[in-house]
Amino acid sequence: MSRIIAIANQKGGVGKTTTAVNLAAALAAAPRKVLLIDLDPQGNATMASGVDKREIGDSACEVLLGEAEARAAIVRSPEGYDLLPTNIDLTAAEIQLMDLPARENRLKAALEPIREQYQYILIDCPPSLSLLTLNALAAADGVIVPMQCEYFALEGLSALVNTIEALKQRLNPSLQIEGIVRTMFDVRNNLANAVSGELTSHFGDKVFRSIIPRNVRLAEAPSHGQSIVGYDRSSRGGIAYMGLAGEVIRREKKHKETA
Ligand code: ATP
Ligand code: MG
Repeated sequence: MSRIIAIANQKGGVGKTTTAVNLAAALAAAPRKVLLIDLDPQGNATMASGVDKREIGDSACEVLLGEAEARAAIVRSPEGYDLLPTNIDLTAAEIQLMDLPARENRLKAALEPIREQYQYILIDCPPSLSLLTLNALAAADGVIVPMQCEYFALEGLSALVNTIEALKQRLNPSLQIEGIVRTMFDVRNNLANAVSGELTSHFGDKVFRSIIPRNVRLAEAPSHGQSIVGYDRSSRGGIAYMGLAGEVIRREKKHKETA
C-alpha cells in the first residue's frame, strides 16, 4: 500500500520544498520506494533533485492536462527516488485546467495507475491554495505542514487547518493531517521556543518530534542539485531529516494498524 503525502502551507518560504526533497531522499535511503512530485511551477524541487528544469520533456504540466501518462513523464533522481518534474509551463497548465472537467481530481486520476509502485508519494505544493494545491490535497492521504515558529505562524496554521477540514468534506473525506513540522528552528530564539510550546499544546502529537534546525548545509545542498542526504547526511539538518523520515514511517505503521 502506498501513502500519498502533500507538503503544503499557503505561506511562502517556510521550508516546503526543503522538506519535500530531503524527506524523499531520507525515505529513499531507508530504503523505501519514493516518488516526489513537483507541483510548484517554480520547479525548485526539480532542480534540488538534480534534474534541470530547462531540459525536461514531459512534466507534471502534460500529466495534469492528460497529454502524457505519469509513467512517461517520471524521471530518476540521482538522489535515489523517482521524480515527476515541473517547470514554469505548469503556470499555463493551471489556467487551462480551470476549464477541464473534474479539474480538482486530475492528479489523483493520473496517479491511480502507478501509485502501487511506490511506498511513498510526496507532493511539493506551491505557496497558495490554488488549483494545483487542491489537486495535491484531493490526491493525498495525508498532509505535512512545515512551519516556522514565528509570531503570526499559529494564525496562518489555524487558517490552513480550517481549509483542510472544509476540503475534507467537499473533496477528500479520508484526508488527514499527517503532522506539523517545525522548520528553520533556532533554539536560542525565545519567541521560536514560545511559539513551539503553543504549537504542541494546541496540536499535541500532530507535531512531529523531529525539529529541523536552521542549518546552512540545508540551504547549500540545492545549489549542488543534491539533497542533504547526498550532500552532508551527518550535518544537523541531515540528521533531523533522517529522524523525520523515521517518524513518518512509524506513523504509517500506526495508520495501517488502525485501518
Ligand atoms: P516557496 O513557498 O517559495 O515554495 P518553500 O516553503 O518551499 O518556499 P524552501 O524553498 O524550502 O521554502 O525554503 C526557503 C529558503 O529557506 C530556501 O532558500 C531554503 O534553502 C532555505 N531553508 C529552508 N529550510 C532551511 C533550514 N532548515 N535551514 C536553513 N535554510 C533553510
Ligand atoms: Mg517551495
